[in-house]
Amino acid sequence: MNKESRRAIVWFRNDLRLHDNEALLDAIQSAGEIIPVYIFDPRIFMGKTKYGFTKTGKFRAKFIIESVIDLKSRLQQLGSDLYIRIGKPEEELLSLALEIKSSWVFCNRERTQEEVDVQDALENSLWAIGQEMRYSRGKMLFYTADLPFPVTHTPDIFTQFRKEVEKFIPVREPLPAPSDRFNQLSVALEYGDVPSLPDLGHEDFVANDKGGYVWKGGESEALNQLKYYLWDKDLIKDYKETRDGLLGRDFSSKFSPWLAQGCLSPKMIYSELKKYETERTKNKSTYWMFFELMWRDFFRLAGKKFGNAIFQESGTKEEISVQWNEDSALFDKWASGNTGIPFIDANMRELNATGFMSNRGRQNVASFLVKDLNLNWVKGAEYFESLLIDYDPCSNYGNWNYIAGVGADPREDRYFNIISQAKRYDSAAEYVKYWLPELKAVPSEEVHTIDVVDSSKLRKYKVELGKDYPNAVVGTSKWA
Ligand SMILES: Cc1cc2nc3c(=O)[nH]c(=O)nc-3n(C[C@H](O)[C@H](O)[C@H](O)COP(=O)(O)OP(=O)(O)OC[C@H]3O[C@@H](n4cnc5c(N)ncnc54)[C@H](O)[C@@H]3O)c2cc1C
Repeated sequence: MNKESRRAIVWFRNDLRLHDNEALLDAIQSAGEIIPVYIFDPRIFMGKTKYGFTKTGKFRAKFIIESVIDLKSRLQQLGSDLYIRIGKPEEELLSLALEIKSSWVFCNRERTQEEVDVQDALENSLWAIGQEMRYSRGKMLFYTADLPFPVTHTPDIFTQFRKEVEKFIPVREPLPAPSDRFNQLSVALEYGDVPSLPDLGHEDFVANDKGGYVWKGGESEALNQLKYYLWDKDLIKDYKETRDGLLGRDFSSKFSPWLAQGCLSPKMIYSELKKYETERTKNKSTYWMFFELMWRDFFRLAGKKFGNAIFQESGTKEEISVQWNEDSALFDKWASGNTGIPFIDANMRELNATGFMSNRGRQNVASFLVKDLNLNWVKGAEYFESLLIDYDPCSNYGNWNYIAGVGADPREDRYFNIISQAKRYDSAAEYVKYWLPELKAVPSEEVHTIDVVDSSKLRKYKVELGKDYPNAVVGTSKWA
């Protein structure tokens, strides 16, 4: 059979883009007819985590729907389209493969268990009908084949990993998006519609700009944000100084949701960064974006090296001897932003209202949950998994492992003094007052430790603790 008469399915998963998409280009090189596919898997969208949170909360579900709409439209501009179904990918793709008599299913390989189970099941059924899976790569900055160590020997300490790669391993150029029109299919296909939020178990909602920004999924928006952050606003040149900010759109790149769904390739960011350094400015901040993207690769490699361990309570350790506090009412106060510690509550309320929280906020609320409330970190990580618009299994669980002291990195004590963090990163209390408007009248120097403000002053500020704002679950004098 010659190439032109062969058909290839391209299964889009967490790689919702045309640029730097190895699986798509591999398929185009192998077959004359290409059938791009996206399957909404109800187990991922409507399933529950171990602690009962919806696996994909409404913010991410909406973002993914928008990303799929954008991908479909970009494919249509090339004379192609996107075949869409709700169902189990291993069943939907098998029946499509049988129907159109394709030769292969191409996809970018996933490495975390749930995704691997699905791709393995599909591969087995394809073999039974004389077809094959073809795997490509596309998640990371570095190719594992280029690394100076095998995946299983990835250093456990980030600094060591970074030193072994940053100066010696070149980041490859991103692959170009296909520019030629796709060949006409010689089979008729019912492409199917993009589901709505209610189809995926969520009520419809209008995205708000409470976080200073309205997220929109898709490669087109991702490329716009890259242009905005580097070229239009030159924000990258001050990134190292601004990245610990808390309020608004511009303090950090906000690339994470697009990276998580693969609307944006890290190699594309790197390539633009290098151009920016040549044409405009090269400084600590431009380097620091590379540094943070290396953290992302590091956690992905740890996910490969340690497999399911990163999701377990003991993480990469053999065992842990912590007796967790099982108080679920206390957990609910943390999750809903009602702990009575303004810096924690503001961050959790932002997460609940927008699906996003800054890196500084994430570190603090995670440390507070584990180290101050002694609640099981896995439950906190699952709550993040449900809510985060940028949820990525390796980055989320890797960071939680790290903070809970169960990661491979031996520096166990990642303890955050919440009040000194609040005073340092929100010294004018603008962030706290933005998310907790009930505390607006409290002077900035008092608001972070509202639990120790005396009652006559509180009356003046029109705040009654326990009524207008919760009593603190942990006295802030702990951090004095
Ligand atoms: C408890 C906890 C959970 C987290 N969960 C996730 C998650 O599910 N998904 C996710 O993408 N990030 C996660 N992070 C990392 C980090 O908070 C976000 O990547 C970052 O806040 C996203 O905003 P940004 O794109 O503006 O980041 P920027 O500061 O602009 O950084 C640029 C990119 O570098 C990468 N990056 C930066 N910091 C980290 C880090 N610590 N670990 C891994 N990658 C990093 C991200 O891809 C990010 O988009 C978590 C951090 C913590 C402490």
